[in-house]
Amino acid sequence: MAYHSPVSTGMRGRCPRCGEGALFKGFLAFNDHCEACDADFKIEDAGDGPAIFVIFIVGIVIVPMALGFQLALDAPVWLTLLIWGPILTLASIGLLRPLRGIMFNTQWVRNAREVKRDEFK
Ligand SMILES: [Zn+2]
Repeated sequence: MAYHSPVSTGMRGRCPRCGEGALFKGFLAFNDHCEACDADFKIEDAGDGPAIFVIFIVGIVIVPMALGFQLALDAPVWLTLLIWGPILTLASIGLLRPLRGIMFNTQWVRNAREVKRDEFK
């Protein structure tokens, strides 16, 4: 079976094999398997990887915008936090799911998994 782009299926939260079944059973929790094609999702786990990308994207793109806002308008700190706090929070939460899907699907398609100690013998 041909695989779909892990970026495309991951962003949409779809199965990396068929591109149809739901990848997530909650907001961030993965299903055990695909309801459409029965692909097994138990082996892979994206772990903390997606959070690192969220931190990089939010830290590089949005934090400088908040600092620029404060410096350009000479705004008080409370106003900067009031405006940019929710934006930072929503951007972080909004990016986490698609990035988690992309990373999980990339690992799944490439059959990446944790190497156990006894596999080195
Ligand atoms: Zn599937």
